[in-house]
Amino acid sequence: GSVFANVVQAPEDPILGVTVAYNKDPSPVKVNLGVGAYRTEEGKPLVLNVVRRAEQLLVNDPSRVKEYLPITGLADFNKLSAKLIFGADSPAIQEIRVATVQCLSGTGSLRVGGEFLARHYHERTIYIPQPTWGNHPKVFTLAGLSVKTYRYYDPTTRGLNFEGLLADLSAAPPGAIVLLHACAHNPTGVDPTLDQWEQIRLLMRSKGLLPFFDSAYQGFASGNLDADAQSVRMFVADGGECLTAQSYAKNMGLYGERVGALSIVCKSADVATRVESQLKLVIRPMYSNPPIHGASIVATILKDRELYHEWTIELKAMADRIINMRQQLFDALRARGTPGDWSHIIKQIGMFTFTGLNTEQVTFMTKEYHIYMTSDGRISMAGLSSKTVPHLVDAIHAAVT
Ligand code: PLP
Repeated sequence: GSVFANVVQAPEDPILGVTVAYNKDPSPVKVNLGVGAYRTEEGKPLVLNVVRRAEQLLVNDPSRVKEYLPITGLADFNKLSAKLIFGADSPAIQEIRVATVQCLSGTGSLRVGGEFLARHYHERTIYIPQPTWGNHPKVFTLAGLSVKTYRYYDPTTRGLNFEGLLADLSAAPPGAIVLLHACAHNPTGVDPTLDQWEQIRLLMRSKGLLPFFDSAYQGFASGNLDADAQSVRMFVADGGECLTAQSYAKNMGLYGERVGALSIVCKSADVATRVESQLKLVIRPMYSNPPIHGASIVATILKDRELYHEWTIELKAMADRIINMRQQLFDALRARGTPGDWSHIIKQIGMFTFTGLNTEQVTFMTKEYHIYMTSDGRISMAGLSSKTVPHLVDAIHAAVT
């Protein structure tokens, strides 16, 4: 017998498992609205033209070699990533008090940040929004932190539970870590207003709560890179400390390249230097150093004016298509006379719509209409097209009537 005979079959990942089920379905009308990956109007994955151009430049440059990167990754990439999220004129960058390390996309950045905090920060509790991206509790628990939740979403208004959020953060122990979605909250698509962000900031700073921003959708929410970074920049502008995990999966379409960055904004350059030295001790035994290709693509684009400009145009086109799909879905449900107030579809922001459909309705839509989505009723707007809207509307209509 196998020495592993006692290993039990693990369940599929609740998000990635949706695609596994989709792939097995032979139906020609099937639609995958599960995974958070951009698709064109034709339902195809998209490699940005600017990414192809950057790759050409890299391939044609004979000085490019495949040596190991340093433990902290590509230096140019780190500098440019900090600039992208904090802003070119950020005092924290000018005062060299930001420690940035290249990590394996957003997930790896969250994990490295979590491990660093578990080793070096006095308060081990991290508060995550309820609900949140399904991987958050697992990442932070395995990093060695204790995970608690704060109220975020109100199903009755399909908006922010701002009172609940403030009450829960007020009741958190001083110094607790708070995970905040920088923009385009996943799965709800509900973000605080700038005025609400300011109140959250005041409360968190007065209680000494430590912000840990997850920025997986910069530029993807509004189509504007600066607008989507405003929450983070408000917290950095007050001179306080924070962590930021950045992902280039969505905004550059570099999903499988696994390229992201963790930045820790510190009070002084001296602290940042020591923090960076400890981040190296977290990374070295985990994966030694990060991969070179994706970071080289990002650095090539971010440091060239013309490529950067082309990127912002392609990024806005992706964001606009998603916003347009929201309108189309909303209009089609209205035209169909589907019972319910569907205005949240056009109010929510980012890649996902939190439809309000329950698990039974989702199961029904999958079984009868071959529409695949997570059981919490979240649909990826990026997976939708003008051609598939009518089929989705049929399914929703049948599910709620
Ligand atoms: N954080 C949030 C909120 C996400 O939605 C995602 C991806 O879906 C990630 C982080 C991490 O993605 P990746 O590791 O592919 O960058």
